[in-house]
Amino acid sequence: MRVRVEEDVCQGHTLCAMNAPELFDLREDDGHAVVLLVDVPAELEAKARLAHRGCPEHAVVLEE
Ligand code: SF4
Repeated sequence: MRVRVEEDVCQGHTLCAMNAPELFDLREDDGHAVVLLVDVPAELEAKARLAHRGCPEHAVVLEE
């Protein structure tokens, strides 16, 4: 599984980083999410899906 954030859609709600802190962080300058691990390890796939479902802007994109 791979994960990315649609930067032009992200509004910086931080929910992805709270749901999966291993996978996402928030940039200090604009508050938008950045992906820490593009290739999601198997043990973090459930958290990646949680972040995907939890993003109010649908900015977290998963590629299986
Ligand atoms: S939850 Fe969605 S909108 Fe909020 S910071 Fe993460 S990717 Fe951006």
